[in-house]
Parts: sequence; structure tokens; C-alpha cells
Amino acid sequence: MLDKPQTTSMLDTPVNERMPREIAPGVFWIGDCLAQRHRGKVYHGYNAAFLVAGDDASILVETGHPKDFPVIERHLNELFGRGVAPLKYLFVTHQETPHCGGLGRILRTFPDSLLVGDVSDYHLAFPQYEHRMRAMNEGDEIDLGGRSFMAVEPVIRDLRTTWWGFDTRERVLFPGDGFAYSHYHEDGHCGLIAEEAVSLDLPDVSSTFADLALFWTKFADMNVYCDRLDHLIARLGVKVIAPTHGLPITDVAATVPKVQAGLKAAALMPETGTNEKVAAAS
Ligand SMILES: [Zn+2]
Ligand SMILES: [Zn+2]
Repeated sequence: MLDKPQTTSMLDTPVNERMPREIAPGVFWIGDCLAQRHRGKVYHGYNAAFLVAGDDASILVETGHPKDFPVIERHLNELFGRGVAPLKYLFVTHQETPHCGGLGRILRTFPDSLLVGDVSDYHLAFPQYEHRMRAMNEGDEIDLGGRSFMAVEPVIRDLRTTWWGFDTRERVLFPGDGFAYSHYHEDGHCGLIAEEAVSLDLPDVSSTFADLALFWTKFADMNVYCDRLDHLIARLGVKVIAPTHGLPITDVAATVPKVQAGLKAAALMPETGTNEKVAAAS
């Protein structure tokens, strides 16, 4: 019904034309990067959103960073203009700004949509939308027509309220912060899947992200978490991983061990603290 997923021509496509990108049939990667400075380098991180399109309805996974709403809205309208099923659901993995910062604007812009997932506390910020919030628990599924979206175990979680998502048809896992790593803008990585970004040192960028954003990994045995991750991937038969901050992974067997190596390495290093402060221009 829509474009075939592009797997070979993307390296020749200008960066600003790569998104929305269909990473599996009916699963579209949308959103934008955010530049962050750390140890004299500029790291690019995604605050991505994904649209999963069924025959009858679509679900948006994550909302992007608040600054990205114009981009997210443009990408969504482009997809709906191409015949993608209307937006009926919004699922956010957890209550952090890069994941749910566009929640109110999505619910306002798409008045027929429901917020699904762990919906704790959102009614405090948006009492006007409380009647459109539906709690999901692990294993709960939403029928989109020809495919469903399921809440699954959040093996590597940022907040207590985290759920991960799963598309049952193309077996795409949406792990929120679970596979979090930056990429190098100057190497042209923006809009590429992990396997295309051959110059990206995945263990290094994964361990940097864990150091900055997932401090609890310093105090946990990450071997246990990585084993549990392998178990989840095998149990669900995951074929594609669509992380919020990392590049999408389409070769699970080859790429997941590299990310796990970064998580395990970061766990053994002392915490380095927050991002470098850049001197204000005077
Ligand atoms: Zn995050
Ligand atoms: Zn980028």
C-alpha cells in the first residue's frame, strides 16, 4: 500500500530528506535529532517517534522532544496524506520530556486519539483529556487492523512507569530508553539505521549514553539485564528494534551484542556527571 522500506539507497539520500523513513512495512520513523556537547565532542541523539499503521488505525509511539513538534506534525501529515490510517492512539514509554513532551499537542491536534500505556499522573497536567486516557498492562494488545500493538516488559527502564511496546505483525520492539546511544552528525549518520552507520562505535556511544542518562546501571549487574533482554527478544521473535534515542536496529543478532557491550562497560565505570556547560557568549 505504501512505499517499500528503503534499505540500500538511503546513504545517497540527503539527510533532510531521509525522514519519515519506513523501517518495516507500515512502521515509520519520524522526528529529529538533538545536539549535545560532552567531552569536547558534539553528540547527536534522536528523540524519535514512530507511527505504526494498521488497516484501520495508527498508533504513535512517543511524541518527540517539545522542540520537535512542528517536525513531528509535518511528518504525520505527510504520512496521512499518503493514505496511512488515521491516528487513534498515542503510546508513550514513560513520562520524560523527550518521550511525552508533545502529548498535549498531539491530543489537541488529533481529537479522536486516545492516550494508552501507563497513564499515571498525566491527568494532573491535562485534566481536560482525562477521559481519553486508557491504562495498559503487560500483554495488553490494541487492534489496529491486521496488526496489533502490545505493551511488553520494559527490561531496561528509566522510570517505574515505563512500558515497552511491540508490533505483532512485523515484530518491531519499541524499547524507549532501552537502546539509547548517540550518533555523529558529521559522519552523516542522521536518518540511518544502525547497520548503515558503519563508522559508529556502538559500544562507545551506548556506554556514554548510559553514563549520562541511566545512572542506575552503575549499581546493577548489567549481565542480568542483558540476559533478560536476550530472553525477551527470543520470546517475542523481535526482528527490528526502534529505540527512541538510538538508530533503528534491523540486524538484531549482529547489533544487539554491541549495545550490550556498551551497557556492561558503562556499569563498571564511575559516573562522570552531567553534560559539559558551554560558556555563554559575551
Ligand atoms: Zn529517554
Ligand atoms: Zn543527527
